[in-house]
Amino acid sequence: MFIGHYSVSLLAKSRDKSIPLWVLFLAVQLVDVLWAIFIFAGLEKVRIVHGFTATNPLDLYYMPYTHSLLGSVFWAIAAFLLYLPLRKRSGYGKFVAPLIVGGAVLSHWFLDLVVHVPDLALYDNTLKMGFGLWNYPIVALLLELGLVFFGLVAYMRATRPVSSVGTYGMPMLMLLVAALQIHVFFGPDPSGPSAMALTAIASYFAIAAAAGWLERKRV
Ligand SMILES: [Zn+2]
Repeated sequence: MFIGHYSVSLLAKSRDKSIPLWVLFLAVQLVDVLWAIFIFAGLEKVRIVHGFTATNPLDLYYMPYTHSLLGSVFWAIAAFLLYLPLRKRSGYGKFVAPLIVGGAVLSHWFLDLVVHVPDLALYDNTLKMGFGLWNYPIVALLLELGLVFFGLVAYMRATRPVSSVGTYGMPMLMLLVAALQIHVFFGPDPSGPSAMALTAIASYFAIAAAAGWLERKRV
């Protein structure tokens, strides 16, 4: 899953405004950012097999550290502990914002579970699962767009713009990411694992940076 993950960021922000949006945007994709780094480093493996699923050619045959449930729990706890000393005053208890950030990290695995073919392990490289919506492009796309639309509405209702950029910025960003998603689903195969990993990292950071900038246009 790609754009659908951001529904969790937007929804979380609408509930606890003390957490910077860029933190939430990176948190929901932390597992994928690490995956891209691990692919680049050769620690996790992917094969590009044309037609492997109806929406993308990724044979994700080895990713025990990032996309196993146990691995995801580990990264969620790490994010919780990292955010604990960094949190801002929120009016909630001191563990609430770090728990939301950790929960955002963990949400990645469960949303991926819906679309991935069985390549998500429970632990290590065993007991793999995935409901396989990637083989139903229109359904998968509608699900991702529906999720992010739901999050966007929650965020827009919980905040108000301080400029015209604030009014249109976030919906425009999400439209851009949706276009990227459609390109991934229906465009050409990536040229190779390393190129794909680099593009992924660049995209995740660029999207989080854009969200962080746009956040200041709404209060
Ligand atoms: Zn993922």
